[in-house]
Amino acid sequence: MSLSTAIKLLPEVEAFLKGSPLTSFVGGKNFPAASGELIPTIDPGSGEKIADIEELTTAEVDRAVDIANASFADWAALPLEQRSSILLRLADAVEQRKAIIGQIEALDAGKIEAQAQGDVQNFVDTLRYFVKLANDVPKRTKLDVDGFEAWTYKQPWGACAFIFPWNFPFLLIGWGISPALAAGNTVVIKPAEDTSLSAIYLARLATEVGVPPGVINVVTGRGATVGSALTHNSKIKRMSFTGSPEVGQLVGEACGRNLVPVKLELGGKGAAVVFDDVDVPATAAALVGAITFHSGQVCCDATRWLIQKSIYNEFVEECKQLMSAIRIGHPLDPNSQMGPVVNPKQCDRVLGYQQKGTAGGAECIYGGGPATVEGYQGNYVKPALLSGSLDNVAAREEIFGPVAYLATFESEEEAIQMANDTDYGLANSVWTADSARAARVAEAMEAGNSWINAHNVFAQGVPYGGVKRSGLGGGVLSPETLMDYYRSTSVVRPLPAK
Ligand code: NAD
Repeated sequence: MSLSTAIKLLPEVEAFLKGSPLTSFVGGKNFPAASGELIPTIDPGSGEKIADIEELTTAEVDRAVDIANASFADWAALPLEQRSSILLRLADAVEQRKAIIGQIEALDAGKIEAQAQGDVQNFVDTLRYFVKLANDVPKRTKLDVDGFEAWTYKQPWGACAFIFPWNFPFLLIGWGISPALAAGNTVVIKPAEDTSLSAIYLARLATEVGVPPGVINVVTGRGATVGSALTHNSKIKRMSFTGSPEVGQLVGEACGRNLVPVKLELGGKGAAVVFDDVDVPATAAALVGAITFHSGQVCCDATRWLIQKSIYNEFVEECKQLMSAIRIGHPLDPNSQMGPVVNPKQCDRVLGYQQKGTAGGAECIYGGGPATVEGYQGNYVKPALLSGSLDNVAAREEIFGPVAYLATFESEEEAIQMANDTDYGLANSVWTADSARAARVAEAMEAGNSWINAHNVFAQGVPYGGVKRSGLGGGVLSPETLMDYYRSTSVVRPLPAK
């Protein structure tokens, strides 16, 4: 590891990175890859290598799934209180190491350190939420049906697989695996190849605090090899994929062939509909905050800002001022407000969409282009505001960067039609002082989530998922999600006629 001297790491983080190359972790121990093939993991803020991870082969991934399945019976058979207390111990241990995991995540994913710590706390809260919820799920539910004695019997499935993207590596692991573990399943996690470090750290920590071997397993490597091997494995009992719609389709096809139930959490192109009765400075601040949070690499972000015509000019002026004040910098610099994008490919994607958008007739009304941060060769881009026709490529396709596309509307009906004119259906927001109108518009927008006078709102207990090109399978974070991780058997005995 050779990081700029300006970057000061916690001793525990230094020690963790010194263990490079970092191996997969399966069956409660390191799981070295036979191939010897390494994938460098780079600090997006400095462009410097911080560690290598290993790439497993298909046969090794299959062995990991076998180990997760073999560990299932004992884990599922543990008395509920015992399983719960082990998982709560893990939540406590993660919370105690928030600074360490937050720094690993900030360095690996290019997240502002305080935000990365927030992701770690979110993991902890999610795990505690599902553990508590699982305590109230009865194994047997009696059914009141004339002529029959009948009940349903719930039990976990076995080894569940999870494939994650690079934008919220640790937080999404929490959203994914918490309900599965609380219900008594074992898990195999495949983190994104760019951001595998926090998953490896978690699996090691889980073993340290007494999670039985084989309950939490991590397999590392590229999507086309390790991810694909997992999706084609017929012994996984459930698959959950979070990532792009293009790969989601491949995952759905592969799981469909084996009839493995699948949950897909995919991309978005969310709208914010802003009416003329809002507090303009406050609304502009909230939306600029949303599009620059984690450099706009947020699936449910508000990327199309639909502004009622009478306040458009005032709104744009506010946004320009707010954007010009944002401090772009290294994620571990406490003065930074916006960090880099995850890798040079993502940088090219963001800048490419700005170019394609303007070539296609959009006007760049603020910012755009690469940003420089003194002392660092990271993947920095400036936030940007584009405007024009919503048929423009930059208004239709997911950019996944700090780029908002603005357009105007005059009537409520027009705003709803514009918001819904997209292939995606993940999350939108409506901004107005009129609560009846807010509810009407929120219900009329075709997406899994509609927020009122806020954007990017998540709460354990509120289902979060997408429709259309944004996903299928019931979403995450809710009591329904927990139920997805039990299979149900209907037990029926016909009763003699009275
Ligand atoms: P991606 O689809 O390229 O990769 C996601 C994961 O899939 C990675 O771990 C990757 O290695 C793996 N993968 C790649 N090819 C594979 C294959 N053929 N088979 C199996 N696995 C494969 O996505 P990304 O670029 O990492 O993440 C960005 C995307 O994720 C965006 O579209 C974003 O909107 C979406 N996302 C959605 C949510 C949500 O909750 N809906 C959350 C975060 C990100």
